[in-house]
Amino acid sequence: MRKFLLSLLVVASIANLGLAQTRKPARPSQAKAPAAATAAPAATPAPARQSIEVPFVNKVLPNGLEVIVLPDKSVPLVTVELAVRNGSFTEPPELNGLSHLYEHMFFKTNRAILLNACENGNYGIRTSPRCQETLKLKPQLGDVSYLQNIGRLGLTYNGTTREEVVNYYYTTTTPYFTTAMRVINDAVRYPLFDEHEFENEKSVVIGEIDRNESNPVYYLNLALNNRLYYKHPTRKNALGTRESVAAATTEKMRLIQSRYYVPNNAALIVTGDVRPDEVFKLAEQIMGSWERRAVDPFKEFPMVDHPALAKSSGEIIEKRMGDEGSGGTDQNVFIQIGWHGPSVGKDDAATYAADVFSYILSQPDSRFQRNLVDSGLASAAGIGYYTQRNVGPITIVLITTPDKAKAALKAVYAEVAQFNSPGYFTDEELEASKTILSSRDLFDREETSEYTHTLGFWWSSTGIEYFRGYHKNLDAVTRADINRYVKNYITGKPHVGVALVAPEAKKIANLTEADLIGR
Ligand SMILES: [Zn+2]
Repeated sequence: MRKFLLSLLVVASIANLGLAQTRKPARPSQAKAPAAATAAPAATPAPARQSIEVPFVNKVLPNGLEVIVLPDKSVPLVTVELAVRNGSFTEPPELNGLSHLYEHMFFKTNRAILLNACENGNYGIRTSPRCQETLKLKPQLGDVSYLQNIGRLGLTYNGTTREEVVNYYYTTTTPYFTTAMRVINDAVRYPLFDEHEFENEKSVVIGEIDRNESNPVYYLNLALNNRLYYKHPTRKNALGTRESVAAATTEKMRLIQSRYYVPNNAALIVTGDVRPDEVFKLAEQIMGSWERRAVDPFKEFPMVDHPALAKSSGEIIEKRMGDEGSGGTDQNVFIQIGWHGPSVGKDDAATYAADVFSYILSQPDSRFQRNLVDSGLASAAGIGYYTQRNVGPITIVLITTPDKAKAALKAVYAEVAQFNSPGYFTDEELEASKTILSSRDLFDREETSEYTHTLGFWWSSTGIEYFRGYHKNLDAVTRADINRYVKNYITGKPHVGVALVAPEAKKIANLTEADLIGR
């Protein structure tokens, strides 16, 4: 979670939002693009370019658990990830931030860990009521002796919470693959939610909120989100608030467990030194008895509707980035402009067109970059679409200086007005962007353990079949598709403009709401 929120801030500020969702969100990938560009076999017009396929295989177990395997024998490592369709898109105000808190509790004591302690503890522990209760679960939990040397296996693990997915991942050497599967199985099916540990984790999570709130860019993102998704802002804020986290109870954890932590709302993703048939077999053996939920949680608790914006609006956040510098007058101005973008499942064609269009504009020699960055108006400019099932945002990010902020905004809206003019980008730029996007995926796959999260991200928001066809569909994007996307989601559509300005630089920047929304 922390990794993600930080990355969101960084990504938002470095104007690379468009790539955030398609790849590893934790690492802004701007730096990678040029490498991919030079390595791409055909950066010049290449009509015969082959679209790549991601060679994963998948299977849905009878209990609904989707198992996705991407074998890669190059290094004797295995990553096992559990992805769950949970996150802020499932959070009404009273549950805001609790998918994240749940993520923290996943790594705490569960019944298997307790059973192991009870079996190996002294007589006093063994006869305690908690052990008596847990010992009764022995038939389900089985032999938990695998936990005895767990600390010596070099198992690395972490988890993240986003708007539309929560994931947990363990990387280990090949011989301990089964152990990693058991660790995940016991954590997801037999949580304990110990009250003492729970209170501790609440403090840890509130500490994360504190750290985020100490970064001014947090308020910029929050203002944009709160305006774009004004009716249900909690559904886009995975961090939650200090109040909602402080009011959390273990009862609410069990509520989340009963709704979302079920096999027919989860995927097991295994990458690395494994054979798909052995993964499917082991998944069935270990997790096949996990009981499916009678009703799909998204049928019982449907996603909310984010109503369209009635009109454009803007907001200036006055905050200092730090204590250094000459009184804030030289602090950069951070600007974000957001629109409601397409939703997966409702307008898939637009989601592919959005990614290609964003990529064209991100290329250093695009007209967008030349007019905003090469012109000296901004030090960075970018546009991105964040692929989501429930209204992904389209965001333009600009970093400029107080004295240039007004002119930079004027220039950016002049670009927006031209997005659909026939000469805005060339056919060569369109084709080159598709080539680079595809080769980027190959580069990303080099790091299999990280790529596991890419698969988990797409599985949760789009379904894995969307991702299977992703590169073929990007490849098929035409100029007409892009024009349709721009016309339906950007041109003349209500939007939100927000700016972060140091209080001391407010006069110099002299921004108005009209500047922010391009009027
Ligand atoms: Zn966290």
